[in-house]
Amino acid sequence: MVLDNHFPDTYHSELLQAVGLNVYAFRRYKKRDPEFRKKVLSAYNERCAVCGFQAKINDAIVGVEAAHIKWHQASGPDTEENGLALCSLHHKLFDKGIFTVKADRMIEVSGLASGMGPYKELVTDYHQKFVRKPSSLIYLPDEKFMNWHVREVYKGVACSQF
Ligand SMILES: [Zn+2]
Repeated sequence: MVLDNHFPDTYHSELLQAVGLNVYAFRRYKKRDPEFRKKVLSAYNERCAVCGFQAKINDAIVGVEAAHIKWHQASGPDTEENGLALCSLHHKLFDKGIFTVKADRMIEVSGLASGMGPYKELVTDYHQKFVRKPSSLIYLPDEKFMNWHVREVYKGVACSQF
């Protein structure tokens, strides 16, 4: 369907709600490598590459996700080099272009973004900080995928008020 082909999952419910459609009626399974989540989470020791967040219930990781740097919908591969382990919040903000990760692993927050509450602690305090390195250098994000995210998703100018 159109949503699956053009937008990452984090966009779906908002888009469907915006046009008054029921999210669940339109879900379908996508052909993704079921190992992607496991591989990427494992590469980052099951913690968010931005903030280090991890939660568990028993042994199950909760709230840490495998994000595609180049969207699956844009033919981004299901490999560690195209993945970042991100907590649910940073995953969403990354997919929306509130921040990006440059080829040198530096986080850049968009000058077009703003927020309230703990926004500073959760977002702008990471401006010009580095994402965590994966457990092995072979899992480092590939420059070409990061450049795609900067160009196609982030699009913004860096915030300058910090
Ligand atoms: Zn996080």
